[in-house]
Amino acid sequence: MKTPQFHCGSLRALRNGSRGGVLASLRGALRGGLLAGVLAAVCAAPIAAHAQAQGQAHTLAAPTLAEIYATLQTKRFVDLTHAFAPGIPHWKGFKDERIRTLDTIAKDGFWAQEFTHPGQWGTHVDPPAHFHNGLRTVDQIPLHQMILPLVVLDVHEKVARNPDYVVTMDDVRAWERRHGPIPAGSFVALRTDWSKRWPSQAAMQNVDSKGVAHYPGWSLPVLKYLYEVRKIAASGHETTDTDPGLSTSRDDYSLESYVLGTNHYQIELLANLDKVPEAGALVVVSFPKPLHGSGFPARVFAILP
Ligand SMILES: [Zn+2]
Repeated sequence: MKTPQFHCGSLRALRNGSRGGVLASLRGALRGGLLAGVLAAVCAAPIAAHAQAQGQAHTLAAPTLAEIYATLQTKRFVDLTHAFAPGIPHWKGFKDERIRTLDTIAKDGFWAQEFTHPGQWGTHVDPPAHFHNGLRTVDQIPLHQMILPLVVLDVHEKVARNPDYVVTMDDVRAWERRHGPIPAGSFVALRTDWSKRWPSQAAMQNVDSKGVAHYPGWSLPVLKYLYEVRKIAASGHETTDTDPGLSTSRDDYSLESYVLGTNHYQIELLANLDKVPEAGALVVVSFPKPLHGSGFPARVFAILP
């Protein structure tokens, strides 16, 4: 395995926001060793300072995992996951969750429950196979796509004025003006603050008197740019659907079909995106491994810079 190398100038740029050159070296490091590569960026600052103090060249060896772990312990972690339970908001077509007690400590010496719910339950992962035969199932999502740079597109103020708002290329360009190109291999989350309507299904679905739902969503130009030009690894949102309520009310799920058709996964029903920066954090996306599974509740959290 090649030892990932980092350059001081790149590390400074990384601290100021992700730029293309930094990402190139990060991506190289990712191939060399995922955790070491990603997390090297987290702990690079003191090491860069040390190297400069020693008058060393502008090339640094990656820190050890022990050093990375020590640094991680100083960081703030933010849970991006709703707890799931019967009665939580869900896609309109699914039945509610049921929980049955199988064993109790009083009677059996241990406590066990049986959970019955759709795979797409609570904060959950949609693998490509959810919409497309032959593409990746939950168990086939690569491990290296489960820890990623986190990009947050924040449109919550526009959504507050217009619940039917869909993210535009102007929103993406504004992010890139502030932080540079959206990093290849990143996880892009759409912040709408819609998750603050949790745990009310009625508030999340926001259906009018004619039966039309009003909630925000993605747009095809933005998704195509993110996946095809910027080559992101995954995306996520706070609503029950990728597509806005106006579309899903017509049973139009073409945006979700597009995302999953790229053979990348998405996360739905994210929480707490208002508590993470729009650039500079990492996201850890984890979920169980149902064999050939079509979707499952996920545990998603951010590590703040
Ligand atoms: Zn879903």
